Formats: sequence, structure tokens, C-alpha cells
Amino acid sequence: MFQPPRCPHRDCSQHHRPAPGFYQRYGHFRPKCRPWPVQRYRCKSCRRTFSRQTFRADYRDHRPDLNQAFFLSLATGIGLRQTARNLGLSLTATQAKFRKMARHLRRLNLNLRGQLAPGAILQFDELETFESRRNTRPLSLPILIERETRYIVWAEAAPIRPRGKMTKARKRAIRQEEGRFGPRRDLSARSVRRTLARGAELARELPFVLFQSDEKSTYPKLARDTFGISRLLHVRTNSKIARMSWNPLFPINHTEAMARDSMARLRRESWLASKKRRYLDLALHMWMAYRNFVRRRFNHDEESPAQMLGFTDRRMTPGEVLSWRQDWGTGSVHPLSRRGVPISRRRSA
Ligand SMILES: [Zn+2]
Repeated sequence: MFQPPRCPHRDCSQHHRPAPGFYQRYGHFRPKCRPWPVQRYRCKSCRRTFSRQTFRADYRDHRPDLNQAFFLSLATGIGLRQTARNLGLSLTATQAKFRKMARHLRRLNLNLRGQLAPGAILQFDELETFESRRNTRPLSLPILIERETRYIVWAEAAPIRPRGKMTKARKRAIRQEEGRFGPRRDLSARSVRRTLARGAELARELPFVLFQSDEKSTYPKLARDTFGISRLLHVRTNSKIARMSWNPLFPINHTEAMARDSMARLRRESWLASKKRRYLDLALHMWMAYRNFVRRRFNHDEESPAQMLGFTDRRMTPGEVLSWRQDWGTGSVHPLSRRGVPISRRRSA
């Protein structure tokens, strides 16, 4: 049933332009974690061997049997340490699994995007959190969504300077940190720009870009620079008005509330925190994959956000988002293909 879509070795001619029948069957092996044998193949060009397993996202995992439970646990509000305890993994193994899985899901999020159809509305906001120390290392976290489907286009954290109420102790802590690391940089404009640029990639075919945000003074210029002044319709809403469902920004506020609920490290009054910003970004991709591909938009819906935008044919199971490795761009195998058809070919079919 499965047909290797390419030679998995990047330096082989059959990796980039696989010819039909570039491989031959080459025996099989019995993995420890499964009762059935796995087919091996040999590339006729470079003569190296590989198997169906070489194309799987759980290739070389020690406990692939735990991956689905692991993903659901981390994407729905349980922290790393509690996940480790629940599944009987060591903390080191949990961290390694988290990083590998989240990097895979980041690629999946990027590979399975398409173009937005007219009528799409982009909504944007930033929420505030921190890395390691609440009083000295705040982060800003821009989030961009498509309003109707609640599809999360992008989110990534950036350091900002400490602000707000300054107690004596807090000032002392900030001075201490600045002595050690220098003044904390403010990179929020950069991450806002990058987040909006991810939206612009999806909006290339739209005659107009409908963009909604609050009234932060830096947004109009950043939006104009990203989407182009001639196409942009920027609607701004005062962030002081009540955050009820009639508030035009309710969808993004609601998404932010869900982010705080679904990622243990973003919860307020929590014991947990991200130690490093880059791990927060990885956790975001895990949550985005769950939210965009696995979860229904609302509980009464059948479809996922990505499905509503036409990026996928149907809602995916956790097993499907974790299925094929995604490190070859749209040449990676489509997560819904059993035979090994690449994303690029399945789309055009
Ligand atoms: Zn080869």
C-alpha cells in the first residue's frame, strides 16, 4: 500500500526528483514496539536503505506508543512535569519528546497552509506573559487569527522591558538582572511584524485585507507596511470597552483566553512558567496544531478551523497530525495520506 515518495537521503538525486520505481523492496524488520513487520526499501540510485518508518514523525522515538496521549496532554492544559508523572516518563525524556514533537508540528502548521478566500477577516492582539521571572522578564505574545473560523495564523513571543507597578524589591531585581545581562531588549515590534507577515502570506490573493486590532499606536504603520496601503482596511477598537461577545474583538479575546487555558505555562496565578521564550514558541505550535487541525471550531461544529478554510479535507485525529514527518516542506507526505502522497501532489489532485 505504502509507496516511498522519495529517497529520504537529502544528498541523493532521488530525493529531489524521484523517478518512478527508484526503489526496490529490500526485506523487512520487526520493531520492538510493534507486532507486525516493517517493509524495508533500497534506493536504486544511492543504494542506501530505508523503510516506511523513515518517513514517520515518530522515527527513532523511544516510546511512540505514548505520543498521542502526550500531545493531547500538553495541548490541553497539562504541564510538562505533570505529563511526565502521568505517563511515567522521566523529565528529560519528556523535554526531548516535547521539543521534537513541537518542531514537527511547527512544520506541519507551515506546510498545510493555503490562501484565504475573500471574506476572511484577520484579527490581531498581543497578550503579556513572562519567561522564568515574572517581575523582571516580561514577554509580549502577538497572536493573529482568522476571525470567522478561529484559525490561528501565527503567534510568537518577544521580550519586552519590565513595566507597570514598581515596588522597591522589583526595582532591585531589575537592577540586578541588568547588571548581569545588560538592559532587557524590546523586540515586540519585530515579532508583531513577523506575525503579520505570516498573515500576508495567506492573504496574497485577497483584493482587500480586512484587519482588526485595538488602538495601540504602532499598529497602523506596521499593518500598512505588511499588507500594503492600497489593500488594507484596518478597523480599530478601543480596548477599554467591555470584553463581551458583542465586542468586535471578542474572537481574538476569546482565543487568548483559550490559549491561557490550554497552555499550562500561560495560566495566570500558576506555578508553571516558560523558562525560555523559545520553548514557549514551541508550546504555541503544539497548541496551534491542536486548535487548527484536531479540535472543532466550536463544540457544536463538526469542522476544524483549517478545514473551514479549505486547508485540509477533514478534521484530523491526534494520530494523523503526528503521522508523517514534515521536514521536506510541501514535499512531505500529507498527514491524511496512507500511501505516502506528498502535500503538493495531493493538493493539485
Ligand atoms: Zn537515494
